[in-house]
Amino acid sequence: MKSDSGDNQIQQRWARVRGYLRRECGDAAFRSWLKPLTLVGMRGSELRMAVPTRFMRDWVATHYGVRLLELWQIETKDILTVEVIVDPGRSEHSSADATGGDATRPAEPAPVPPVSPSEPGRAGSDLVLSGLDARCTFDNFVVGKPNEFAYAAAQRVSEAGAVPFNPLFLYGGVGLGKTHLMHAIAWAIRRRAPDRRVIYLSAERFTVLFVRAIKEKDVMAFKDVFRNVDVLMVDDLQFIVGKESTQEEFFHTFNALVDQGRQVVLSADRSPSDLEGIEERLKSRLAWGLVADIHPTTYELRLGILQSKAEQAKFEVPPKVLEFLADKITSNVRELEGALVRLAHDLQFVGGVITLETAQEILHDLLRASDRRVTIEEIQKRVAEHYNIKLSDMHSARRARAVARPRQVAMYLSKQLTSRSLPEIGRKFGRDHTTVMHAVKKVEELTSIDNGFAEDLDLLRRMLEG
Ligand code: ADP
Ligand code: MG
Repeated sequence: MKSDSGDNQIQQRWARVRGYLRRECGDAAFRSWLKPLTLVGMRGSELRMAVPTRFMRDWVATHYGVRLLELWQIETKDILTVEVIVDPGRSEHSSADATGGDATRPAEPAPVPPVSPSEPGRAGSDLVLSGLDARCTFDNFVVGKPNEFAYAAAQRVSEAGAVPFNPLFLYGGVGLGKTHLMHAIAWAIRRRAPDRRVIYLSAERFTVLFVRAIKEKDVMAFKDVFRNVDVLMVDDLQFIVGKESTQEEFFHTFNALVDQGRQVVLSADRSPSDLEGIEERLKSRLAWGLVADIHPTTYELRLGILQSKAEQAKFEVPPKVLEFLADKITSNVRELEGALVRLAHDLQFVGGVITLETAQEILHDLLRASDRRVTIEEIQKRVAEHYNIKLSDMHSARRARAVARPRQVAMYLSKQLTSRSLPEIGRKFGRDHTTVMHAVKKVEELTSIDNGFAEDLDLLRRMLEG
């Protein structure tokens, strides 16, 4: 592995990173764990480091990984991943000439916690700082009615000198831009104030790190990392629902940071009050800051996003085709992007220009899938017809079995056939999410004991799926 930016320069950076680590971790920890760490080299956006033993690798990755990557990223903005490998041949003495040359035994690479999974930058389990997606900036975010409030709030956070509100809580359905906005905040802060420590990670990653810290009896190091940041961003907070000790730890981290006037940015697929299974005191503190929701896309926003993405990719698509896609693919932005990528990809082979017909041809399965997507309203209507009850009984307070059962069936089908969350479904029925949960359980129970009911349900489902 050769360093891109010259051996000397990268050695100087490494010396600075070591200096920081020594100051932050204390001499004892530094001598035991960090001194043996050597620099192997850098290629592109990947930095590779080595330690002599496997145990040390795991320890360093677990306890210092986040900070190590963060420090490297402060030194060198384009580092996306840091990998720690086991190489018994290296020791601190060889670190002076550690750059250049190939890692001859790249045994068992242990990506530092913030590791890039197969798809860097995608919302996903395993990534933290590594995969700040270069495309997810404010400049690349198309603003429209559904997201303008969240966008403005995110910008405020990244521009403000003092913390404008704490936390910033972004919520909305899948694929509507929560992660994009969080990455954008990180990029903007990194550009404006490179010294500020910013940690971005998923709640899932937070959990994994915390659980590991407990197992290895080193919660102190964990606390150190997370309580010494200027900006902490935790994505997909719904993940920690029901995980009591992680929640507790998160609550303390959160309080500590807020009390010190550090910025916290959170995202979830639902609002703080809908995060059931989270302690009341955490819930209410979450709502203290600014809660900004991202609404489902509108036609105008979808068209704007398609135009912008096509332009960025220098991909010429006739306006008619973009309008067609904006009209047909309504689920979320991720699927819109997917459609464009598919078009671009397939056209490489077919050649020629895109017309409405070729687009329809290439995307036929995708379009069929979104055609098939039913709404909760349709489900309510069909189910009411099927059981011969009034549509208004779907929302009514009546509890008579004759209306309650069909209502439960409609809730169940809404859960099965749409991507709506339990609280969202609940709202459409004038109920809360626990009622929906109960309905789902009840219907499942009935299908297993009542064949007639199961057949009925199946018929309804097939009707709705068209
Ligand atoms: P979420 O985290 O809410 O599930 P993401 O932020 O991962 O959604 O967004 C899904 C994809 O759509 C990403 O590739 C993102 O860049 C893109 N995207 C979402 N909203 C917008 C927008 N307003 N403008 C441009 N791209 C967007
Ligand atoms: Mg996301």
